Amino acid sequence: MSITAQNVTKRFGAFVALDNVTVECPAGELVALLGPSGSGKTTLLRVIAGLEAPDNGTVLFRDDDITRHSARDRNVGFVFQHYALFRHMTVFENVAFGLRVRKWPENKVRDRVKELLQLVRLEEKAGLYPANLSGGQKQRIALIRALAPEPKVLLLDEPFGALDAKVRAELRDWLRRFHDALHVTSIFVTHDQEEAFEVADRVVVLNKGRVEQEGTPIDVFERPANEFVMDFLGNVNKLPVRVVGGRALLGETGSVELPAKMLGANADGRTDAYIRPHELDIARTADGGNCLLGKIVHINPAGSVVKVRLLAEDFGLMINVDVTPERYRTLVLRPNEIVYVTP
Ligand code: ATP
Repeated sequence: MSITAQNVTKRFGAFVALDNVTVECPAGELVALLGPSGSGKTTLLRVIAGLEAPDNGTVLFRDDDITRHSARDRNVGFVFQHYALFRHMTVFENVAFGLRVRKWPENKVRDRVKELLQLVRLEEKAGLYPANLSGGQKQRIALIRALAPEPKVLLLDEPFGALDAKVRAELRDWLRRFHDALHVTSIFVTHDQEEAFEVADRVVVLNKGRVEQEGTPIDVFERPANEFVMDFLGNVNKLPVRVVGGRALLGETGSVELPAKMLGANADGRTDAYIRPHELDIARTADGGNCLLGKIVHINPAGSVVKVRLLAEDFGLMINVDVTPERYRTLVLRPNEIVYVTP
């Protein structure tokens, strides 16, 4: 079932938390609401859940306008950052809770809970209390508890926010697989772009209560719509250029041409060009000439890439370049060396 928030505005007193926001989540997809703190992600999720009434706009489930329906009538599963499991109930009882409230017959409750516990591979924890589970296990239980009554929609608010990096990474992977198996239309809130890109089918970038961009992770990463998105996604070199005949030339002398994304130019042709670290390379020789000199300031082997930070003294700029580990080994890079940076 698709979810649409259409022209939603939400104010708290004079403060506008959501400003005419339209977001669509196609049936069966997993959409991430991504944005900095205070951008309105949680408020939007709560409006969709029926926990907050919008001042303007509508919420549609498929084609049904459910804006005035209570949270109860929306048949939505909700998972919060803090597990919110009942401490005095066993794992089994926690997952069964929503089913018993809905008066499912006890044999069906047992079958459903068993099936879900198997799905998250926690069957053997059925009799334990939440205090005896790890953070990651608690969050998996919170998720199946939300899914137990077969909601049409699943909403997750920073579901992995309270967990350490390793468990977070495992759960992301797991959420993706889980979603692929069940296809419940899901929206999840995160301020972590890596998490959004890794898990979601579509990403909605929010800022100050407005949608800055919406698209697939690849779209948003490769074609950021504006300076905010570019900056928020981080890890980008912002370099002053002059635009001459449609070419972006670095610095006053304009000796290096950059294939960077242009974001308009002032009347005198000056603007900032954005180029990602993986779009640049390092070389030992000035092959072809279109390159600049950089002194290596810092080298950070970060798993699948090696992050190199350089000072381009001629331009007074710090530049970040990502190279592959193979390239790093071939070039034998060391701090303080002068190398060529090539676009
Ligand atoms: P975070 O990542 O920090 O949770 P968020 O993007 O989820 O941020 P929201 O929680 O939606 O942001 O809040 C958006 C803005 O609305 C914030 O400035 C917040 O202070 C304000 N706000 C949210 N709820 C209320 C409320 N009940 N009363 C007054 N202001 C509120």
